[in-house]
Amino acid sequence: MKTILTTSPVEAAGFIKRGGIAAFPTETVYGLGANIFDAKAIANIFEAKQRPDDNPLIAHVGRIEDIDLLVKEITETAQKFIAAFFPAPLTIVLPKASRVPLIATANLETIGVRMPKNGFALEFLRACETPVAAPSANLSGKPSPTTWQAVYEDLSGRIDCILQGETTQIGLESTVVDCTSAIPLVLRPGAVTLEQLQKIVSETRAYQTKNNAQPRSPGLRHRHYSPRAKVVLVNPKSKIQNPNQSAFIGLDLPDEEFDFVKICPSVKDYAHSIFDFFRQCDRQGIEKIFCERVEESGIGLALMDRLKRAAES
Ligand code: AMP
Ligand code: MG
Repeated sequence: MKTILTTSPVEAAGFIKRGGIAAFPTETVYGLGANIFDAKAIANIFEAKQRPDDNPLIAHVGRIEDIDLLVKEITETAQKFIAAFFPAPLTIVLPKASRVPLIATANLETIGVRMPKNGFALEFLRACETPVAAPSANLSGKPSPTTWQAVYEDLSGRIDCILQGETTQIGLESTVVDCTSAIPLVLRPGAVTLEQLQKIVSETRAYQTKNNAQPRSPGLRHRHYSPRAKVVLVNPKSKIQNPNQSAFIGLDLPDEEFDFVKICPSVKDYAHSIFDFFRQCDRQGIEKIFCERVEESGIGLALMDRLKRAAES
């Protein structure tokens, strides 16, 4: 398959309308989209990404009204979050409408819904004239793509089209909050923080998986965000035994020398850079990446979540 590159949201949307799959930029990471009501097109997303079929996709809408097409009910807490934040890097999990094919939600009776806060993404979604199911546009397990070039690196020849936009502003995937029961639960941390959600619904909690319990957000079971290089987390200002072909990313310049270093002016900038840094390390043949730990609050919680997962594998 030839992958068409375009800067036209309308041209990219044409592929979705004809049953194809197309990657598009959002404020979080690039997504790989298909018409959510087209089970065959959705099967092609799983195939192209080599994504395990028990990992649900997020439904993206260009207009708030379109959420009604996807869900049985917008619960009271969900209504509050939508009013306070949408469009936003925030995915809300609700009971799924029966017209949404089960392949999109990996057989769950719930669906994650999001309206991105990115003009180009909204233009694309509106031109699709249907809600679009879209996971991140990377090969499963790889770092999420924050540039169209990263999408090309993973999926060229496997998808119909890439809508070429800017580097994504946030660089980490959306916050996922389950609003199906009275107490909203944050299943995945992201740029919309627990503290911000609690200002709207004070009962909101972070979902904690007990040892060996099944995570409520199925995708979080899988290997994630991993570069080929080994990822090691280090405390600020700690002594590092750095072997050859090693890299460092963090807030403070370390004493040791590395083959590749990125010092970030803020935690926000660190979060924005991390996935692209992982990919650059792999291209340069780096074997070990040392990542400085940050405080687990605000966007730092989401960054540490991704770093810990990357270090697990
Ligand atoms: P990705 O866009 O690649 O980060 O994948 C979407 C992620 O959103 C999944 O891996 C889940 O963690 C989460 N998600 C999507 N739909 C649901 C749902 N219905 N219930 C819980 N989590 C979901
Ligand atoms: Mg993903």
